[in-house]
Amino acid sequence: MYVISNIEEIQSYLNEQAHRGKTIGFTPTMGALHDGHMSLLITSKEQCDVSVVSIFVNPTQFNNPSDLENYPRRMEEDLALLEKNGCDVVFTPSEEAIYPENFKGVSMDLSIVNEEMEGTFRPGHFQGVVNVVFRFFEILRPSKAYFGLKDFQQVTIIKIMVDKLELPTEVVGCETLRAENGLAMSSRNYRLNDKQLAEASAIFKTLEYGKSLVKDNTPAEAQEKMKTYFDQFPLDLEYLQIVNTNTLEKLNSKWSESATCCIAAYFDDVRLIDNMEIA
Ligand code: AMP
Repeated sequence: MYVISNIEEIQSYLNEQAHRGKTIGFTPTMGALHDGHMSLLITSKEQCDVSVVSIFVNPTQFNNPSDLENYPRRMEEDLALLEKNGCDVVFTPSEEAIYPENFKGVSMDLSIVNEEMEGTFRPGHFQGVVNVVFRFFEILRPSKAYFGLKDFQQVTIIKIMVDKLELPTEVVGCETLRAENGLAMSSRNYRLNDKQLAEASAIFKTLEYGKSLVKDNTPAEAQEKMKTYFDQFPLDLEYLQIVNTNTLEKLNSKWSESATCCIAAYFDDVRLIDNMEIA
């Protein structure tokens, strides 16, 4: 496994692979890796000849400085896990390499994600996400890129970006990997103790409960009942929103063909998100 932080070096390696007709699969991460990240890498390995994973804690997608400061960093463990799972190349660029002085950023309409859920509670987040993913795509020119559906709005906006800018990369959305109690795996879970890890299954339980409400309730009624249900647990709800899976529009009086419920909640200062297609 190669570990490369220099842009010219990784480009020269990947160009050589591309010239030999090899396809390149790319999984962007912010490190503190877990089996959820590994499931993206495994899918990349199934579908592509060369699999690249990046580790870069992107400062521009954090709206809260203390969240950025406390974000778990575990480079040694990350590299061991990647090696064990057969990663070909790990890309660990510096902030200066990703954001050179002349970097302009992506200019596109982000309202579909900015006006709902993560967008309203994390102002600037999606601009940071599209900028960094665009920059990685520009450097690595992957054939396919792998994103987790846990970050539901993120996958949507990256697909729209690729479409709008006609980028030659296929975006693949991958299912959320969960712990046995249903808790979605997340780097932020490294900040929870065992008791909190057990209690954080509240999010999954609430999403599952939502499924049982679809038949006899409107989305607005289901939302209220889910919020009341969630209140029994020791987490603080930030939002719970049922949206049309395809358009991200909020649902109130009528169910759409497919509906997804998204939740963000705090356990002390640790922010967790999850979602599930409930209808
Ligand atoms: P992050 O390091 O949190 O930025 O995540 C990197 C990628 O891994 C993103 O595309 C995430 O959606 C994805 N990811 C994070 N957690 C999971 C999970 N539990 N299952 C599947 N993919 C995940």
